Amino acid sequence: MSKVLLYSGGMDSWLISKIINPDVKLYVNLHSRYSQAEISRLGADVVVEDLDLSKWEREDSIIPLRNLYLCAVASNYGNEIYLGATQGDRVLDKSFKFADLATAMLSFLYKKQHWTEERHVTVNVDFKRYTKSQLLALYLDNSGTIKEAFDNSFSCYSPVNGEECWECKACLRKWVAFANNGYFHTCQAPFVIKKEILPLIEKGVYDRKAEVFEIVKSINDFNNLL
Ligand SMILES: [Zn+2]
Repeated sequence: MSKVLLYSGGMDSWLISKIINPDVKLYVNLHSRYSQAEISRLGADVVVEDLDLSKWEREDSIIPLRNLYLCAVASNYGNEIYLGATQGDRVLDKSFKFADLATAMLSFLYKKQHWTEERHVTVNVDFKRYTKSQLLALYLDNSGTIKEAFDNSFSCYSPVNGEECWECKACLRKWVAFANNGYFHTCQAPFVIKKEILPLIEKGVYDRKAEVFEIVKSINDFNNLL
């Protein structure tokens, strides 16, 4: 049974690929705003498929039902489909409930019938139990090196000359995860967190509760350098 990982090259799917060692790393080109930047960084071992959903990409970059389409495409490559979700992900199409329903739906559609033998397809979001920091720790426990993870994962929403901006949400979350594992990259990220995120936490209006403690912890560790 082939293990297929839906892969973007971002921090989550990069770490998960190192932990589960999938048979297929699958990138689906949805022709979204970030697709070209992501594709340009994919390794030669990544399979690229094409499914143009750009027409339904919203201003906020959300493509409704994105992961439902992705799982359907991935089912052509194997029976065990992994979505690179972590605890901070709030969309319903990366939830445990979605994984259960998608498993039931795909397995139903691949029941034995005139054109196919029976297949049991599962959609797995197991890594949603972990925050990004915990996922990184898990990879390190599996004898990964922190520098390799840092240099090879790229999640930035608005790269500056092809480099990570260290100001967007994706960059800030990556910075926090590495800081929590003892890797303090020198950049403006901690200053941005201190100025823009800490006040929200203090006011109790920061909506990523699972990560609040992690952010506070890394800022406290790093505070004397600010
Ligand atoms: Zn960025």
